[in-house]
Amino acid sequence: MIVFQQVEKHYGDFHVLKGIDLRIAQGEVVVVVGPSGSGKSTLLRCVNRLEAITSGDLTVGGVDVTDKKTDINKLRREIGMVFQHFNLYPHLKVIDNITLAPVKALGVPKPQAAETARMYLEKVGIADKADAFPSQLSGGQQQRVAIARALAMKPKIMLFDEPTSALDPEMVGEVLDVMKTLAREGMTMVVVTHEMGFAREAADRVVFMNKGQIVEIAPPKEFFEQPKEERARLFLKRVL
Ligand code: ADP
Ligand code: MG
Repeated sequence: MIVFQQVEKHYGDFHVLKGIDLRIAQGEVVVVVGPSGSGKSTLLRCVNRLEAITSGDLTVGGVDVTDKKTDINKLRREIGMVFQHFNLYPHLKVIDNITLAPVKALGVPKPQAAETARMYLEKVGIADKADAFPSQLSGGQQQRVAIARALAMKPKIMLFDEPTSALDPEMVGEVLDVMKTLAREGMTMVVVTHEMGFAREAADRVVFMNKGQIVEIAPPKEFFEQPKEERARLFLKRVL
C-alpha cells in the first residue's frame, strides 16, 4: 500500500530522511516512534506529498507520489490525516465540519453526507454532539470529530501524527480506543505516537527512527522485549 525505496529528504542543507526503505501492506498498522526531531512527521508528510522527497521512490497504492502526472488531490482524498492539533473549523458545527469535504470535494449530496457523518460520529462515540460547535467540546471529543471527519472521505489509509499529544491525560484513552477499533477493522494506519501502550497493543510493526534513519523495525513484542539496536534500547529506557 505504501512503499518507500531509498527515500532521501533534505530541508536545504539539513538531511532529514536518510535511505528510508519501508513497505506497508494493506490493513497493516505501523507505529513510528523515536526521539523528537528524528524525522517522524516528515516521513508521514511525504506520503501525501505535504513534503516532497529529494530522491528515491515512494508509491501509495501503486501510484508514484513524486510523478508530476499523479493527481495529487485524488491521492490526498484517499489518505486521511489526523494531527496533534485538531484544526476543526471553529465557525462550523461538528456535523458541518464533517460534511464539508465530502460535499465540496466528492460532490456527495448534503443529506447523504449528513447521514454518513452521523454514522461516523456514532462510531467515534459522540453522536449527540452533531450540532455542537468545536469550542463546546473537550479536546478528546474534538480529536474524535477530526477522526470522523477524515473517515467521512472513505480513505484507504489513515495517518496520525501524535494525535493524543495535545490532550489532557484523562482524554488520551478515548481517542486511542477509537484508533484501536479502526486498526481492528483493517484500516491501513501509520501512527506517530509516544503512547507505547498503544504501540504494544495495536501495532503490527513498530518502526524506530533516529536522526533521519529507520534504525529498527520489529513486531511490538520483539521491539519492546528484545530491541536489537542500542539506540532503541536507550530510547525505551527513557520512555518506558
Ligand atoms: P519529528 O516529527 O520526529 O520530531 P520532524 O520530521 O518534525 O521530526 O523534523 C525532523 C527535523 O527536521 C527537525 O530537526 C526539524 O527541525 C527539521 N525540520 C522539520 N521541518 C522543517 C522545515 N520545514 N524546514 C527545515 N527544517 C525542518
Ligand atoms: Mg513530529
